[in-house]
Amino acid sequence: MKRDSLLVRLLLLIFCCSLASLTVWKAFGSRDRALTEVSIHGLNLAQAISTYSDSIVKQGSQLLIGIVERLEAEGYGPAELGRLHALVERQAKLMPQLSSVSIYDREGGLLMSTASQISSLTNVRDRSYFSHHLGVDSQDAFIGPPIRSRANDEWVITLSRRFNDESGRFLGVVVLSLRIENFLSLFGQLDVGQDGAIGLTFADGRLLARYPFREQDMGRDFSNSPIYKKYLVDRLSGTTSYVSSLDGVERIYAFRKSENFPLVATVAMGKDEALSAWRVETALSAVVVSGLLVLVGIIGSFLIRDMRRRAEAEERLINTQRDLLSSNKKLELMAMRDSLTGLANRRCFDEVLINEARRAKRHGAPLGLLMVDIDYFKLFNDSQGHVEGDNCLKAVCQLIEQSVRRPGDMVARYGGEEIAVIMPNTDRAGAEAVAQIILNNLREEKIPHDSSPLGIVSVSIGVASAIGPQLDGLKQLVESADEALYRAKVQGRDQFSF
Ligand code: GH3
Ligand code: MG
Ligand code: MG
Repeated sequence: MKRDSLLVRLLLLIFCCSLASLTVWKAFGSRDRALTEVSIHGLNLAQAISTYSDSIVKQGSQLLIGIVERLEAEGYGPAELGRLHALVERQAKLMPQLSSVSIYDREGGLLMSTASQISSLTNVRDRSYFSHHLGVDSQDAFIGPPIRSRANDEWVITLSRRFNDESGRFLGVVVLSLRIENFLSLFGQLDVGQDGAIGLTFADGRLLARYPFREQDMGRDFSNSPIYKKYLVDRLSGTTSYVSSLDGVERIYAFRKSENFPLVATVAMGKDEALSAWRVETALSAVVVSGLLVLVGIIGSFLIRDMRRRAEAEERLINTQRDLLSSNKKLELMAMRDSLTGLANRRCFDEVLINEARRAKRHGAPLGLLMVDIDYFKLFNDSQGHVEGDNCLKAVCQLIEQSVRRPGDMVARYGGEEIAVIMPNTDRAGAEAVAQIILNNLREEKIPHDSSPLGIVSVSIGVASAIGPQLDGLKQLVESADEALYRAKVQGRDQFSF
């Protein structure tokens, strides 16, 4: 039982451990999946933003090329500028993100602008795009850092190009101002969660636009962040996660660098927020599994208790059965033994005699029977008292038992002071020999018996013997022994007769 209950405990333990480790393993797996899904989502958004900003810059660049070509071919007299203004106004309608188009001369003074509020005295010598084009003899478009427009004070990104005279000398710049607000309204439509952020930066890490918008972030330099320092060195896109230097929130960052322009689109999503659904799911499954484990534990403990109870009942039953068997044996022994002499009693004698007679008959073997009776025992009792009589009886019985040597022989108290000896496989001669031994042994013992003519205790023995088929009448064998005993008595006692 102990082994069974141990086995049940072991099985329950294995089941509980497997269930718990499966749950933990599943939880870690689904956490990884949740993070992967967020990364893929971020990468897709970064790709979309990169494509969008590329297309705007491309569109703006084409517009710049057209304007610069006309300026260089037709010059920038009032009439030419007037026609250009009308053309630009028409094209500007196709670019809703366009805030204004302005043309400045080689001194930075205003030549033309689509911005209505701009002052004719405006000078852009201090603007980075002007100093760039003045210093760099290149016809390439230049994307400038975010600035506040002097015309309407809104945050803009500039896209500019220089125009030259026939000999390639600097004549001035054409500047497109692109509303940051426009980028922000698109970024705002993308779902990146409460802790999320979307950014557009230069490839060197300077910020162009960021959602959610914060005035203090404009123009901020992120070149020290891992994306620019580590990841963008040898790849165009990827994901990473780290704690933001801006607000201390851990985010998963997906980034995409434009193949055409020095621009990088970044999508960041709060790691905690990204894992919130997973956390709820994990907590729920933890509750369910814990409940299940508790239930299994309760059922298991009931099972073990029940097994223990059964085992105890079984043990009690076995003990009772054992006790019963031993008391039965004792009873049986008591029923077969004579309490005074310790010999087999009459009942036992009857049973053994029947069995031995059957066996002798089966094998055609002889069976000997002695009927021993103590001489003058009444007188012994009368003279020495019953207690001494009992002792004498015990001593005689013991002596007879010692005189009978074969293991198959049986000595029994037949009744009173009469003792019977059953001797299987013993013929008349053998039986007489045993009778003689008993007589001799008792004579040697010399138990005093004052009331006997011999002065010592003696016995008379009736010898009977029969072979196989003669044993049909068992009664006859006993009677024959009895008669022989009578003859021994009559013939003077202290002898055997046949
Ligand atoms: P006999 O030589 O003819 O056999 O004479 P006896 O006196 O031995 O025979 P009798 O049958 O007259 O008496 C038997 C006596 O044995 C009677 C009884 O007091 C005594 N006796 C029988 N069983 C016991 C016993 O268990 N204990 C004692 N102390 N005496 C017993
Ligand atoms: Mg007698
Ligand atoms: Mg007698």
